[in-house]
Amino acid sequence: QTERDRREAEPALAEAIALATALPGLSVEGGDVVRLPRAHPGHLFGTGKLAELKDRFHESEIELVLIDGPVSPVQQRNLETAWKLKVLDRTGLILEIFSDRARTREGVLQVEMAALSYQRTRLVRAWTHLERQRGGLGFVGGPGETQIEADRRAIDEQVTRHRKQLDKVVKTRALHRAARAKVPFPVVALVGYTNAGKSTLFNRLTGAEVMAEDMLFATLDPTMRAVDLDTGTRVILSDTVGFISNLPTQLVAAFRATLEEVLAADLIVHVRDISHAETEEQAADVAAILAELGVSDDVPMLEIWNKSDLLDAEAREVAERLAGRREGILTLSALRGDGMEALVSAITAELDEARSRKTLVLP
Ligand code: GDP
Repeated sequence: QTERDRREAEPALAEAIALATALPGLSVEGGDVVRLPRAHPGHLFGTGKLAELKDRFHESEIELVLIDGPVSPVQQRNLETAWKLKVLDRTGLILEIFSDRARTREGVLQVEMAALSYQRTRLVRAWTHLERQRGGLGFVGGPGETQIEADRRAIDEQVTRHRKQLDKVVKTRALHRAARAKVPFPVVALVGYTNAGKSTLFNRLTGAEVMAEDMLFATLDPTMRAVDLDTGTRVILSDTVGFISNLPTQLVAAFRATLEEVLAADLIVHVRDISHAETEEQAADVAAILAELGVSDDVPMLEIWNKSDLLDAEAREVAERLAGRREGILTLSALRGDGMEALVSAITAELDEARSRKTLVLP
């Protein structure tokens, strides 16, 4: 493994560690980059690496190993047997975090559905593997097959029940939204990557004491709050679920409905961590997700370059100059409160402008 490999993998490792820290109760010992030119189908790592890692884990009394990537059910089980500890892959970890953070009924149902479908694939493949081990190929109709079928059916029934409940919740949510539409307060939605500072900004704007820990996913479910801005404008502020890089595809669909709240927004405030090494990639991801959700270009948007306090003086000056030159971009430190006044004025101005545009179209 070259030094370059390691350097290139550093941001991904840091992100994975931050992700692990988001799960309460875990004390994260750190992480390591393992180069895998070829994943072993049975146990992911080669035999030598497997033994080396086992020694290291046992020396430091590790109880849980998180692998930041896909691990097949077979690999997971083999690794757990070989190392005698628990192994979780990226999807499993994100599911754990989501389930820990889900606050609304809708959020809980969505997480459970995603977990069920994850479990379903694990189940089927795990059984297939067992069958093969027993030389049970072509054993169709045997006890193993019956058991798989029964387990699958049980999960499918649970999924169906969940889906029905979810439909009901989504309908209620739509009714709430319709009711809100009658209230003459515009909705301002905060969007952005996890850890960009949405909760911190939300709290600053609302003065509320809701969750701004140094944790990813402090906001799984959209939080809505009516706020009177210093300019006298009353808005409904909505803090949406944070985006995360490489969100496993099976989870993307599950959390779509949570994000759909953004579609009802009168103004979108995109919060960016401008100090993050991959801030440009993250911004592009956010734009792509919004487009995919069907957010129209007509919805006014403000872009916040947050965490400006983390830039050195020179970089901050460049950022401020760049932001100043472009419409709708503001530098900010949600943590220290720098730039809040400008933000509140910008929100008010955007909403006023949108309102006057609307009045022109629909007199
Ligand atoms: P969210 O996931 O987007 O809701 O992000 P949070 O609001 O939870 O913030 C994530 C972390 O970044 C927390 O530790 C915050 O204290 C920190 N943070 C947020 N805004 C700023 C900022 O302007 N400057 C600095 N230095 N840290 C910030």
